[in-house]
Amino acid sequence: MTEKTYSEWRRLADSAVLPMQLFIDGAYCAAEGDAVFAKRNPATGAVLGQVARGSAADIDRAVAAARAAYEDKRWRGKPMAERRDILLRLVALIEANADKLAVAESLDMGKPVAEAASIDIPGAAAVWRYYAEAIDKIGGETAPANDGNLAIVSREPLGVVGAIVPWNFPFDMAAWKSAPALAAGNSVVLKPSERSPFSALMLAALAREAGIPDGVFNVVTGFGAEAGKALALHNDVDCLAFTGSTRTGRTLMGYSGESNLKQVWLELGGKSPNLVFGDADLDAAARMAAFGIFFNAGQVCSANSRLLVDRRIHAGFVERLVAQAAAYQPGDPLDPACRMGALVDDAHLAQVLRAIEAGKAHGRLVAGGAAAPLHPKGAFLQPTIFDNVDPASALAREEIFGPVLSVIPFDTEDEAIRLANDSEYGLAASVWTRDVNRALRVSGALRAGTVSVNTVDALSPQTPFGGIKQSGFGRDLSLHALDKFSALKTTWIKFQ
Ligand code: NAD
Repeated sequence: MTEKTYSEWRRLADSAVLPMQLFIDGAYCAAEGDAVFAKRNPATGAVLGQVARGSAADIDRAVAAARAAYEDKRWRGKPMAERRDILLRLVALIEANADKLAVAESLDMGKPVAEAASIDIPGAAAVWRYYAEAIDKIGGETAPANDGNLAIVSREPLGVVGAIVPWNFPFDMAAWKSAPALAAGNSVVLKPSERSPFSALMLAALAREAGIPDGVFNVVTGFGAEAGKALALHNDVDCLAFTGSTRTGRTLMGYSGESNLKQVWLELGGKSPNLVFGDADLDAAARMAAFGIFFNAGQVCSANSRLLVDRRIHAGFVERLVAQAAAYQPGDPLDPACRMGALVDDAHLAQVLRAIEAGKAHGRLVAGGAAAPLHPKGAFLQPTIFDNVDPASALAREEIFGPVLSVIPFDTEDEAIRLANDSEYGLAASVWTRDVNRALRVSGALRAGTVSVNTVDALSPQTPFGGIKQSGFGRDLSLHALDKFSALKTTWIKFQ
């Protein structure tokens, strides 16, 4: 972990050099027609630079470079040990540049720089390391076959993978998609969010320095409706790996159908429940419940945004929560003491404030509820808690993607499970209890991709992450993610 003072982070931020151009075929380049868009720092409103605005023509160039690299096998044809070592060199470069990457992430989307340095960047490095090391460890299989036959099942890369990612964990999301796709032998065209383009562009240069051949890893910045749409509709893209909203996920399924029926993998939104039973360690539960909704200003797909609490402890638990929320009063993201920075931009702040306003009719506001005037042009919001929320209301059902918690009391275990599962989403859930039988019973009944018991949002490179229902399908992380980026081929040999 990098320990730096406020002034050291500020100095790094003042001298930050942020790449602004597309990265195609091993080099930075302008978008067609020199198109650009202004990127602002959400903590201050200051323009950070003019970023290349990729279009369909730029996507064509990037896909052509990726296809050429795939066909001539400049990456997948390398010895396994060489590919592994190149990705491990990338890990070392990420670690060597961790502070710069953390500053870029913080300036770009407002997250506390110290958290970016201690959580996001090492987290991404761990994911790259995991898939680097998997390269020479995953094999095929032989299937049972009658005497005189041999059935070989091998894994082949798919070709060109398009990856479209959101802004909440830009560097991590780029790793979650690109690392397994490259480890499986594909070429990649990555489209970061227009709200957070910088760390993906920095990654591209580091990947080249590590030795990933030109054309194998390309980054096209720009808007969803332009570059993103062109990538999703492209007839020479074999697989689209997406993380983002459920709304965009629906659109991408349509684009696949309209074009070449490319595989589409969707990691989407959530409204994850956190169930606190009366027998839980209530100090830990309150501390982690606050973390589960206020970390990254609640801009987390698996944020524990619905707190279901045993009515017998409800009043006292809400008091503890309100006390915990105080630790998340927004601050300057460059201050290492800051635990909640800015929201990603003004538009998102306005949207979250609208959800809060509408929510006042469906729950009792017990903390926050307003913008925090930290900087005249900063997108800061107070940590917000609503108690006794109507489970049928939008406040309890829709993803707000901000630091807004809905508390709902329950009387019985069955009611807690029913409330938890009463959602169109199924990404994650948490359960707090000291009773191992209850923990297993409730975990089994919850409809979610991940259930964390006596913690929140547990994840690691080794465990699959993803949802069910309208939280999407397919899994990031773990060896299972490699399944998304490879096809199984059966080769059947009949002896003569
Ligand atoms: P978003 O859907 O608006 O955008 C995500 C990406 O899709 C961006 O790169 C955007 O440019 C692109 N995009 C938008 N419209 C497009 C189109 N028509 N065609 C092609 N690309 C398009 O989501 P967001 O606001 O960036 O991110 C927040 C959402 O992401 C939340 O719903 C959150 O839950 C979800 N998320 C999910 C996970 C997960 O693992 N399940 C992780 C992080 C975030």
